Amino acid sequence: MKMTRRELLIGTGVGALGVLLVSCTPEPKPTPTRSITPSPSPLPTTVVPAPAASVRSAWARDPFAHGAASYTRVGVQQSTRQKLAEPIQNRVYFAGEATDVDDPGTMRGAFHSGQSAAMRLRAAMAGGERIAVIGAGLAGAAVASELADADVEVTVFEARDRVGGRVHSHLDDAWPVPVQLGSWLLDADDALGDEPDFPEMSDLTAALWRSPEGAIEPVSPAPIEKAVAAAETLPADVALAEALIDTGADPEEPGLAALLAHLATTAAADAEVLSSWFPPELPADAAKAVVGDLGAYVHELVGDAQLSLASPVTRIAYDDAGVSLRLGTGESTSFDRVVVTVPLGVLQRDGIEFSPQLPFGHRGAINALGMGHIETIWLRYDDKPFWETDAAIWHVVGGEATVRTWINLSPSTGENVLVGIVGGDAAEEFAALDENEALTAALISLEPFAPSGETD
Ligand SMILES: Cc1cc2nc3c(=O)[nH]c(=O)nc-3n(C[C@H](O)[C@H](O)[C@H](O)COP(=O)(O)OP(=O)(O)OC[C@H]3O[C@@H](n4cnc5c(N)ncnc54)[C@H](O)[C@@H]3O)c2cc1C
Repeated sequence: MKMTRRELLIGTGVGALGVLLVSCTPEPKPTPTRSITPSPSPLPTTVVPAPAASVRSAWARDPFAHGAASYTRVGVQQSTRQKLAEPIQNRVYFAGEATDVDDPGTMRGAFHSGQSAAMRLRAAMAGGERIAVIGAGLAGAAVASELADADVEVTVFEARDRVGGRVHSHLDDAWPVPVQLGSWLLDADDALGDEPDFPEMSDLTAALWRSPEGAIEPVSPAPIEKAVAAAETLPADVALAEALIDTGADPEEPGLAALLAHLATTAAADAEVLSSWFPPELPADAAKAVVGDLGAYVHELVGDAQLSLASPVTRIAYDDAGVSLRLGTGESTSFDRVVVTVPLGVLQRDGIEFSPQLPFGHRGAINALGMGHIETIWLRYDDKPFWETDAAIWHVVGGEATVRTWINLSPSTGENVLVGIVGGDAAEEFAALDENEALTAALISLEPFAPSGETD
């Protein structure tokens, strides 16, 4: 979908206005966060008590993301990501999670993509050059970090008034831990967590699967593994949902549907659109959660590079001699090379104009890959928790739940904080709800964990 002129003006002008009005606007826009306490009108009564505070994300509406993470659509090759990462005339480089073949849609993939782009740059650049990096998310920060000891001048342009992009540790005294509105979970053995200065993490162990009738056996991923194995032998790729049906599974059976809902919280898309030839990694039943400030970590990575916040780039002109960037302010500035790390959603909506147009291969890759949705809602309880389990990862099976995956932070942090995560189409729908509707949907989703539900 193309951006309308009005959207373009809003999307590109907000950051510039933020700079100009910084002394007279209390809160720069845009922000993916929305606090939903106090509620403007009373909530309907639910079995689950209302929390003392809640905050949720809205990445679907964020003009500098347009979604949460890229995914590999059915029929699309993983090599499409390599195509997107190819430098153009050794002047325009691409990084960001969508360009990473091994771990797309993750912090790890974003970080590695930045390291790879920096290696490519090092092979082409000469001493004393001026390098621009667009985007101060993990990928852009990794580029800056990798070039820190090179004899070049690095400037990072970031549209928002903060670094981090799709990692966003919202620090608020009202919350006992940073509220992670974007990415915050790593596989238990993920090496990214071993990077110097990486923030504190907690182990999330033990999963609990519950239906409105009570606790149920963990749902096995075997049907998905079987479907993927069978799909590999087919002459053409099929959607994961189709591969499941072809191998005798029912994606709408409540247990499998809950597992697929969990998959959508990491893949950002539903089985109906995901490739079964290049399936997302199945989420594990143990993970690590960042309970520190990811923004500070990204800042450390940016290091001594020049950082220009609230500076959306609207146009990149390039030839074999260099690049020229136009900012939302209208100002233009020249560099020897540029690394573009903006999200796939921004590229898909022509959030940056390229002159000349990007080559066919890049445009094809941008349109072929999918940009999916993940949203999160954080609930804080000040009184005794209403739940009676130490399991850290909860799955809601069956019933009317909108948010089927929950993280219980109380066993790992001692704080009565629950985090709901929703992915795929359900996340897009969740993002469209108003504050009360979203909180009500979250509380209804939690009903199987309320005292009236069966205990373990
Ligand atoms: C809710 C949610 C939960 C997630 N959960 C996990 C998880 O648990 N584990 C995991 O590994 N991954 C997770 N992810 C995915 C992960 O956050 C991303 O893969 C990763 O952070 C992407 O980093 P990036 O640097 O590629 O992009 P970004 O972080 O998006 O950085 C790109 C930057 O470019 C900036 N930008 C955009 N347009 C312009 C412009 N015109 N000019 C200048 N700057 C611009 C943006 O503001 C942004 O800061 C999650 C994502 C979301 C949204």
